Amino acid sequence: MKSIFGFCSRGRTGVSLPALDVPRSEGIPEGLSREDDGNVGLPRASEGQVVRHFVNLSTRNYHVDKGMYPLGSCTMKYNPKLHENLARMEGMASVHPLCPDDQVQGTLEMMHHLGELLCEITGFSGVTLQPAAGAQGEYCGILLIKSYHESRGESHRNEVLMPDSAHGTNPATSTLADCVVVGVESNAQGLVDPEDLRRKAGPNTAAFMLTNPNTLGLFESHIEELTAIVHGAGGLNYMDGANMNALLGIARPGDMGFDVCHLNLHKTFSTPHGGGGPGSGPVACSAELAPFLPEPVVRKDSRGVYRLHRERDPFGRLLAFHGHIGVLLKAYAYILTMGAEGLREASEAALINANYLKARLSEYFDNPFDNGPCMHEFVLSGERQAAKGVKTLDIAKRLLDYGLHAPTVYFPLIVHEALMIEPTDTEGIEELDRFADAMISIAREAEEKPHLVTDAPVNTPVLRLDEVKAVKDLCLVEPREGGDGA
Ligand SMILES: *Cc1c(COP(=O)(O)O)cnc(C)c1O
Repeated sequence: MKSIFGFCSRGRTGVSLPALDVPRSEGIPEGLSREDDGNVGLPRASEGQVVRHFVNLSTRNYHVDKGMYPLGSCTMKYNPKLHENLARMEGMASVHPLCPDDQVQGTLEMMHHLGELLCEITGFSGVTLQPAAGAQGEYCGILLIKSYHESRGESHRNEVLMPDSAHGTNPATSTLADCVVVGVESNAQGLVDPEDLRRKAGPNTAAFMLTNPNTLGLFESHIEELTAIVHGAGGLNYMDGANMNALLGIARPGDMGFDVCHLNLHKTFSTPHGGGGPGSGPVACSAELAPFLPEPVVRKDSRGVYRLHRERDPFGRLLAFHGHIGVLLKAYAYILTMGAEGLREASEAALINANYLKARLSEYFDNPFDNGPCMHEFVLSGERQAAKGVKTLDIAKRLLDYGLHAPTVYFPLIVHEALMIEPTDTEGIEELDRFADAMISIAREAEEKPHLVTDAPVNTPVLRLDEVKAVKDLCLVEPREGGDGA
């Protein structure tokens, strides 16, 4: 597509200004202005050209307004536009974070009530809305756990146990919080091996960090046994709740023996995920841990006035102010419009959708950890196709030719040639079938005409990119004629 930079014809304009009704100014002093603004290369385009340029650009990229996004461990669901409007409401969006409490009662009430709702959803009694992402929520949770151990004279506890299927942020945040990561093995079913956990939990255990359902999309069926082992050793249990999409209204971390968990509002609770933010990773915890939450927290005083409460602040703030209010508002609107029943239905739909796709694809791809129904996601292996010279990356690229985004690939690490698929609750059967049909068709191509897959994509505006170069040497302007397109 030709860029607007290609039609810089003089005389074209997209604006019409009213006649000047004030004295004409002398203009920009000589010496400060360029000789001829035409030389700057500013585009001169009509309104129609500008609109078409941007609409065309928007359709060259893949996005959730165009089709499903089956990225596993991401929950890329479609989010109602209504919530975007609410987040932009003047009275909320323009509040200065240093306003005195009594001038921002609406915002504080929303934060307070949202905190209560998140506690109800997770089965906990304390919450902070500050963390700006899941990873920061994990970091907050580990600091919370360390503060708790310290308060009991057990500051030597510095080991965080986690399974080998853990999301990469788990070891990263634990290490950043000055802890030592201790791996726990998964068994042949893809679940944490209780015997190995028992061997590794001990006097130095600060926490056991677990994603449940785990990154294979499997619910840790013996969860109460696991959390009891850790409590028995004096450690605490942290749930990585980034993927609450499987559990809403069905099961609560607080009831499974966990002491603290974070949520990803930008996955489960109506903020689009991806593109770099803003996100929000609130942390909820048990009454025992609540005194160690970062402050301020919103409290309601005896006169019914909401206050930003500061008392002890064990490890300082995690964010300059109180959290990403726009994201909190979207979550609040989502929870209230769905209601308790609606949230449960959303999780049930997420589970049914994932199981439907798993069933449709099971004949065509390997599934090394298939022990019956999955949760909100499942992980296939492309090993059968790899044996024919078609790698999982090729399958991901070929999906683009079918007008679909790829699933998460090569994660979790314990599955070779992994394809991690999460359809989410918001896709209907037509879109699920479109995805399944494409995957099945690609599996056939891998058997019969593998070059169709290994040469993909062929229908996209740019072909196969050098991904390492795209990361290290990112170029966001249109490639010049004869450029290499990376
Ligand atoms: C997405 C995710 C995270 C990290 O969340 P960010 O907001 O990207 O930092 C952590 N754990 C799991 C299991 C996730 O899926």
